[in-house]
Amino acid sequence: MAYVGRFAPSPTGPLHAGSVVAALASWLDARAHGGRWVVRIEDTDAPRCRPGAAETILLQLSRLGLQPDVPPVFQSTRQALYGAALDRLMESGLAYPCACTRKEIEGALCVAGTEPQRHRERVYPGTCRAGLHGRPARAFRLRTSTADGGDLIVDWADRRLGAQRQNVTQDVGDFVLKRADGLWAYQLAVVVDDAAQAVTDVVRGEDLVDNTARQIVLQSALGLRRPNYLHTPIVLAVDGHKLSKQNGASAVDTHDPGAVLATLGAAGHMLGLEVKAATRADWLARAAEQWQARWMAP
Ligand code: GLU
Repeated sequence: MAYVGRFAPSPTGPLHAGSVVAALASWLDARAHGGRWVVRIEDTDAPRCRPGAAETILLQLSRLGLQPDVPPVFQSTRQALYGAALDRLMESGLAYPCACTRKEIEGALCVAGTEPQRHRERVYPGTCRAGLHGRPARAFRLRTSTADGGDLIVDWADRRLGAQRQNVTQDVGDFVLKRADGLWAYQLAVVVDDAAQAVTDVVRGEDLVDNTARQIVLQSALGLRRPNYLHTPIVLAVDGHKLSKQNGASAVDTHDPGAVLATLGAAGHMLGLEVKAATRADWLARAAEQWQARWMAP
């Protein structure tokens, strides 16, 4: 199977020190495998997208020498594909409509005595699993249990982190595929597009590792191939939290060749690469060699 890697930024702002690590790692992995590298702009969550951010990201990538092998794809143009996937899941009984508001879900969880936990998503109590009982559908969810009603446990291997396991039923529950505001959920869009773009290897930041089991569940529900996964170290802000556009991470500097080399050097350092080179082309070629030695099985 021909290697295809991808970088899938959400255009909520320019590339920062954290997102450059994911971009560089996925590019290096594609180069080291002699494969193709695609860029997908994940603009399904329109309210979070910033005007001009996609163009800025593409310009930053090109200044860094990280050129996609095919023109970038925008998720906002691919709604029909997500709709078709949801139809298939509905037909097979794996997805169902949900009428619950956030307040109703909280109420049902309170009655069940489930305390909210910090940094953990609330597990949907399953109210609409047995039907809407005349209430209007708001969202669509994936049923996360085995055919005989058991817990859905996903085992998978990360190329860097090793063996991973998640009980999707207990830890996540029936997750949203299409939101009450009509927007497609990240999980569905990413799985449909990774398959449509024939992605063989997902290389992205470790902050997303927790989503992988859900994506594997969706792949098997849709009969799609499971890609290989490699989650990279993430860049932390001074307060110890993951550096993100939301906590004010600043755009990486790509304004001249010196700044480009410094930006690549900092991202490479996060990936355990120590490259000395005078030009961008040299830097990228040496980094790809080091990547090959470090992250690819002999
Ligand atoms: N669009 C997601 C983000 O920017 C990344 C999705 C992925 O790599 O799977 O956080």
